[in-house]
Amino acid sequence: EFTSRQLTESLLERIEHLDGELNSFISVTAEQALAAADAADDARTRGEAGPLTGLPLALKDIFCTEGVKTSCGSKMLDNFIAPYDANVVEKLKAAGTVSLGKTNMDEFAMGSSNENSHYGPVKNPWDLSAVPGGSSGGSAAAVAAGLVPAALGTDTGGSIRQPAAFCGITGLKPTYGRVSRYGMVAYASSLDQAGPMARTAEDCALLLSAIAGHDLRDSTSVARGVPDYRAELGTSLSGLKIGLPKEYFGDGLDPAVESAIREAVKVYESLGATVQEVSLPHTHHAIPAYYVIAPAEASSNLSRYDGVRFGHRCDAPKDLEDLYKRSRAEGFGDEVKRRILIGTHTLSEGFFDAYYKKAQQVRRLIRQDFMDAFEEVDVLMGPSTPTPAFDLGANKDPVSMYLQDIYTIAINLAGIPGISVPAGNVDGRPVGLQILGPHFAESQLLNVAHQFQ
Ligand code: GLN
Repeated sequence: EFTSRQLTESLLERIEHLDGELNSFISVTAEQALAAADAADDARTRGEAGPLTGLPLALKDIFCTEGVKTSCGSKMLDNFIAPYDANVVEKLKAAGTVSLGKTNMDEFAMGSSNENSHYGPVKNPWDLSAVPGGSSGGSAAAVAAGLVPAALGTDTGGSIRQPAAFCGITGLKPTYGRVSRYGMVAYASSLDQAGPMARTAEDCALLLSAIAGHDLRDSTSVARGVPDYRAELGTSLSGLKIGLPKEYFGDGLDPAVESAIREAVKVYESLGATVQEVSLPHTHHAIPAYYVIAPAEASSNLSRYDGVRFGHRCDAPKDLEDLYKRSRAEGFGDEVKRRILIGTHTLSEGFFDAYYKKAQQVRRLIRQDFMDAFEEVDVLMGPSTPTPAFDLGANKDPVSMYLQDIYTIAINLAGIPGISVPAGNVDGRPVGLQILGPHFAESQLLNVAHQFQ
């Protein structure tokens, strides 16, 4: 039997050894971690330990952590020490977990490869020439490399599920509103959701039980009881109706990924599930709608970084306008600037109806596709990504990068939950099976994922 201190020390040592190469952490908070580990050991001695007491984990650097740098992967926030904890961080601390640090990410969570980070790219532990996915690439790589057993990520259009798939771990995006966004740096507020990333569905269930729940400081968080997400694990899948959306098996899907997914589906048939094809007819509108809505919300959310209140400030500004312009020009990276430009354009007078309003209407149709499918089947299954992890530096064109999220983005537009589960590999690079369910079906998704593992 090890103490939490011994476990924490050994993982800190492992990070020290391996993370110079992987770059999955932006900050390692060894001192705070050791103090939390000692507190966990004391709680255990007093007989007050819960299921997560002493669990080492890592937090995507998008979550505000009191007294610790919270950079969101950006030069803009490189000097920002958060004065308070995000709701999920409060909850994880109260549960006795031990955070080892803050993980690398695409700047402001904009990206699918972690190459948009101010702190440099992260390497995929399975193949150091591959990307780990993004934007929660640091969390995924840290778990995959055994630096931590679990981590938190956020998912606006796939940023938990896609890196989980690329790194061969399990990642769950909960229903929109299930987890409070208080203290999570905002990207696109109507889409952002925090969730667990870990080796197994069971570990994700444990973490989700700790972080879910209503919070008065996030008006979109839902007042609904939080179940013990482990309670349904192991429930029989006999009679489970699985739908395979035909749009998720079309052009652009790597045949090797497709065959791994079809093999996985066969495992469920052997467990008593039935499989049928379904259609999500508006799928091809998801990426265009997302790339109107997400940049629009981002341009509004990122207007707060003005060089005045916090974050990067340029040297010797001539006047207020110069302060705004140079602070933002110096603080933001190219992809963030691109999104701000798109967002301010689509929200501007004369373009709002043609772009933003239209995209919201399309969003409603996409949501309806899922609601119709869930009249026929219990869950949907398909690939999490069209290909396994691509090489670092291989995907230079922004539009081809946006197309990476073809199977994950519609889920955020609809607000439903989705989980990515490891389902084999192609030439050593992991493949993820994505399982989707109706709003608040997390227990069922976790059970279905669990029985594949
Ligand atoms: N890749 C998508 C984007 O760049 C999704 C990112 C995310 O989920 N945060 O916006």
